[in-house]
Amino acid sequence: MKKILVTGGAGFIGSHLCERLLNEGNEVVCIDNFFTGSKNNILHLMDNKHFEVIRHDIIQSILVEVDEIYNLACPASPVHYQYNAIKTIKTNVLGTINMLGLAKRVKAKFLQASTSEVYGDPKEHPQQEAYWGNVNPIGIRSCYDEGKRVAETLTMDYHRQNNVDIKIIRIFNTYGPRMAANDGRVVSNFIVQALRGEDLTVYGDGSQTRAFCFVSDLVDGAIKMMNTEKEFIGPVNLGNPVETPIIEFAKKIKEMTNSNSKIVHKPLPQDDPTQRKPDISLAQQKLNWQPSVKLDDGLRKTIEYFEKTL
Ligand code: NAD
Ligand code: UDP
Repeated sequence: MKKILVTGGAGFIGSHLCERLLNEGNEVVCIDNFFTGSKNNILHLMDNKHFEVIRHDIIQSILVEVDEIYNLACPASPVHYQYNAIKTIKTNVLGTINMLGLAKRVKAKFLQASTSEVYGDPKEHPQQEAYWGNVNPIGIRSCYDEGKRVAETLTMDYHRQNNVDIKIIRIFNTYGPRMAANDGRVVSNFIVQALRGEDLTVYGDGSQTRAFCFVSDLVDGAIKMMNTEKEFIGPVNLGNPVETPIIEFAKKIKEMTNSNSKIVHKPLPQDDPTQRKPDISLAQQKLNWQPSVKLDDGLRKTIEYFEKTL
């Protein structure tokens, strides 16, 4: 039985990861400061004797004896990561240093949850891991994009300098049950708006694209990455390569929810990437992984979740 630390374990992806790791027979310690995470996400795990929750902010150091660390702690929605931009940077820099320091001290394997945002507003399409990106260092998204880029740098440097056993995954837009209704990201916004009969807010003309991965596929990929041979450290893209313009996505959600909501347009936020789609050849080759949940099936499950919880 492995003892595994998941930071951000009460969040959307983190809670699914904790659940899967427990189901696979591991002992799981979840660390979360509950900024965007919620106890509801992990309530069903609380009476599992192999599950432990620590309310803690990774900006402060902590000592826990574990074999593996999945470092997911960081708000992921633009609305939340921009709410306190300095805190977001601190989480990505100081928080990641603390977790890497912990990995070094207890000799744990360390996986950093990075993001497709490291590619910024990409000039190459689809995005391959070798692409260095096109990121604005001084914009309103920089606390997150540049924060995650530094987190990757730190992870690599702890590997090169201190021989920490590391893995880096670059997560592309992921969705599913347990996204917060007020999360602000497009999937939850559109579904919640459609179910409440409110206008669906498309930012800009909606021609910008994203590719959406269902959370169970993402968790699969993350665990497979953690279990690859020591020499393979990534970074590796994890996402679903099916690309959809946001306006088409709004129409799809309206149709799937049988909603009478109108689709309206709002200003496009600054530095909103115009296109995004992962090249997942590396994950296919090295992890033998590719997403299996079709967009419509994943959306149906997510809509059902919001129907129950709203
Ligand atoms: P989320 O906001 O639901 O989860 C983040 C969790 O981290 C929350 O539980 C939050 O309370 C916790 N947290 C934030 N700052 C913390 C701190 N300083 N100390 C301790 N806990 C803290 O977001 P998510 O979608 O589950 O994302 C999880 C990770 O995956 C993040 O690192 C995010 O950057 C990355 N990611 C997600 C996506 C996506 O589409 N969901 C895409 C790319 C990358
Ligand atoms: N978006 C939108 N309406 C919303 C929320 C988001 O049109 O209510 C757009 C947003 O401008 C972006 C895309 O949907 O182009 C994905 O946004 P999200 O915040 O989900 O993720 P990210 O921009 O980080 O990929």
